[in-house]
Amino acid sequence: MSVEQAPVQRADFDQVMVPNYSPAAFIPVRGEGSRVWDQSGRELIDFAGGIAVNALGHCHPALVKALTDQANTLWHVSNVFTNEPALRLAHKLVDATFADRAFFCNSGAEANEAAFKLARRVAHDRFGADKHEIIATVNSFHGRTLFTVSVGGQPKYSDGFGPKITGISHVPYNDLEALKAQISDKTCAVVIEPIQGESGVVPADLAYLQGARKLCDEHNALLIFDEVQTGVGRTGSLFAYQHYGVTPDILSSAKSLGGGFPIAAMLTTNALASHLAVGTHGTTYGGNPLGCAVAAAVLDVVNTPETLAGIKAKHTRFKSRLEKIGQETGLFSQVRGVGLLIGCVLSDAWKGKAKDVLNAAEKENVMVLQAGPDVVRFAPSLVIEDADIDEGLDRFERAVKQLAQA
Ligand SMILES: *Cc1c(COP(=O)(O)O)cnc(C)c1O
Repeated sequence: MSVEQAPVQRADFDQVMVPNYSPAAFIPVRGEGSRVWDQSGRELIDFAGGIAVNALGHCHPALVKALTDQANTLWHVSNVFTNEPALRLAHKLVDATFADRAFFCNSGAEANEAAFKLARRVAHDRFGADKHEIIATVNSFHGRTLFTVSVGGQPKYSDGFGPKITGISHVPYNDLEALKAQISDKTCAVVIEPIQGESGVVPADLAYLQGARKLCDEHNALLIFDEVQTGVGRTGSLFAYQHYGVTPDILSSAKSLGGGFPIAAMLTTNALASHLAVGTHGTTYGGNPLGCAVAAAVLDVVNTPETLAGIKAKHTRFKSRLEKIGQETGLFSQVRGVGLLIGCVLSDAWKGKAKDVLNAAEKENVMVLQAGPDVVRFAPSLVIEDADIDEGLDRFERAVKQLAQA
């Protein structure tokens, strides 16, 4: 029996929600592939992908099946028991990566929290309390818990909440000399996003990651890659570390891992995992059967040669067209990124106006993202149809040309 739903509008947000977000004026109500419909029936093309989350677009049949099959089987048993979907997912991740062990949780911040706690724990056990310092990079983003905003280090996210976690320093991204100057025997971990996502889609230089790996080894520090945004096919490799060929000690994954269902993972080696003994860390929902069943289905689709090759081809399709739009309008000085994580850097005349580009795009029925005030970001479905790319970029081009003329 269906129950009548109370009607709600965007205005309700301002009455009943904590005002920490400022959502768009329309409410999406349905999605299919890379198309989304709002309350009024308007259709939009989705190049935002829920911020690099909807890896297989909306309502992908394989994910709907995995979720509904599991929903009819077993939802939750707590970590007092293990469950089959979690074990199957862990096997898939271990088989596909450097890792021997997985810890499941529910968000990117939680995966990083686990990574940072593990790094501190390992150093504490092996070397004592002095070795607890974490080196992160300027403008990095690792989530919104107090530990992760402290490691992220951006004042706009971390100031005004009282004392921060201490023992954390920040060095400029892609600057190996700066890392070399900062690292010491007190360093327990260096954490790097292989591509800085939130702060502008900035890919790491290969030599930087190789150098960071070497410095960590020389100082008995662990190398953590935050792959919450870059992982699960986004770069055209299953994880960005594989794209670069530089292997971390600990890797965090979330966003695309669940394709829209909340799940995250921290991956690591046997030797490190042994430091999180029974009782040292945990989470109620982490590794629940629903999330794990969906993530396993995501991996089954993404981690195939066809899908990964398709991501690289779609990168070229986006990039060449975006470069052309940038040249014709003078709006972009550079189009950068890897795979289907692409950033259009606004030229000097348009600096600070990424939000205006987003708004103009939405008026032309295409959803895009920003990555800071100066970069327009694209993080679409990894299996977006070429026809949707072309149609969406037609709409985007119209939006940008109108903006440039205005
Ligand atoms: C989104 C993101 C996070 C935070 O993930 P949540 O699921 O929002 O907690 C952490 N690190 C990176 C690189 C991200 O892009």
